[in-house]
Amino acid sequence: MTLIASRVDSDIETLTSQLQQLIRVPSVSAKKQLTMTKCAELVGKIMSDSGISSELLKLDGNSKQVSPIVYGEVKSKSNPNGKTILFYNHYDVQPAEPIELWHDDPFSGKIDGNFIYGRGASDDKGELITRIKAVAYFLNETGDVPCNVKFLVEGEEEIGSSHLEQYLWKYREKFSCDATIWEFGYIDEHERPIISLGMKGLLCVELHAKCANADLHSSLAALVENPAWRLVHALKTIRDENGKIKIKNWNNDIRDFSHEELECIRQEEFDLPSFKKNYGLTHVFNENDIEETKKANVGGVTSNISGLFSGYIGEGSKTVLPSIAMAKLDFRLVPDMMPQKQFQLLREHLDNNGFKDIQLKFLSGEPACRIPLNDNFVKLVVASAIEEYGQVVKSVSSAGTGPMWYFNNILGCPCVSFGCTYKYSRIHSPNEFVRIDLLKRTTRCIGIIMEKFGNTVAN
Ligand SMILES: [Zn+2]
Repeated sequence: MTLIASRVDSDIETLTSQLQQLIRVPSVSAKKQLTMTKCAELVGKIMSDSGISSELLKLDGNSKQVSPIVYGEVKSKSNPNGKTILFYNHYDVQPAEPIELWHDDPFSGKIDGNFIYGRGASDDKGELITRIKAVAYFLNETGDVPCNVKFLVEGEEEIGSSHLEQYLWKYREKFSCDATIWEFGYIDEHERPIISLGMKGLLCVELHAKCANADLHSSLAALVENPAWRLVHALKTIRDENGKIKIKNWNNDIRDFSHEELECIRQEEFDLPSFKKNYGLTHVFNENDIEETKKANVGGVTSNISGLFSGYIGEGSKTVLPSIAMAKLDFRLVPDMMPQKQFQLLREHLDNNGFKDIQLKFLSGEPACRIPLNDNFVKLVVASAIEEYGQVVKSVSSAGTGPMWYFNNILGCPCVSFGCTYKYSRIHSPNEFVRIDLLKRTTRCIGIIMEKFGNTVAN
């Protein structure tokens, strides 16, 4: 039991009312609203009111469009040379649209029984408040914190954390730490925390095919190449019908799973029938081999067409031979693939298959990251979560992408996902909520993690 356990129960109203204040500032990063800075300032104020020294960090030069990072810090008085934990969170949220599907104002922070509703209630303002309050409760209860604590709260997570790498390089001394608790963590339907140890990487590209210098009468198709066909032929060379990528050397840099990782994947649950039912699917790749399905989910590469455009798609027919066709593709990457190198392989693949004329544009890239299961900090978080929740689920990697690689490589720290987000709390959807019981339990558990971390010997 953590020292702050009784404080969490007696003072939960402060936590919930501060979370409501945060939800009431609509910090939608996609809309580049003026309220972004207002929300950053509110995070800083809640930190200061909680005894955490805070400041807003900015990038140099012409960076008005870049949301500030809120930095927070508390040094342990009793353990100043001990280890430092960094909490990574974000104050920006997804757009609330479609608004008409919400039961209440998405930015009201309405409390109904055990639930607080609102955009950002779980993702990520709920997660953030559990961490701030765990620190605040220690300071209230003991006048100190068991380990050194830092906060990095960014404002661009929901739009791809596009300036985070620059921030990490610029302020790497300030952010230096021994371990990072990642911005999110899920609680499954059996009330078990899912402790996730990695994120896949991503490469986003655009392909353009161009033929004639203007849209033509389609009778000319007897003579003139159609860019939509050209693009379809090129796309067909990239992936086969079972999802396998056909680009030469594409998988060369993939790191094999360790024995521990394979064992962890075997133990992960995957309910294939309900997965198919939920998404209305008749089949999934490799569905006769559930091990392969699970491996692909946490550690498989993908090639996904996220957009296709050419010609006329309005009502009725139009006999046009379009002059351009374009496609957007995203490729999920796994350790140790690097986006720029994979981009070069894709370019070479197109050239070698007779598609030199297809223009290829690099849109964005992020490498994948995976923290080893036998890392000491992973063990510490697992032990802490078991103490509070009784049981945990370990996951080798999330199927999604986040900037974990930059933390791991620039700050040199392990990163572990652990948090309060109920798996079905409708993040990114209408009527997002957070459960108050999980806010409490997770705050207590963050307390346990801090105590255990304070007791470990610094390197
Ligand atoms: Zn999100």
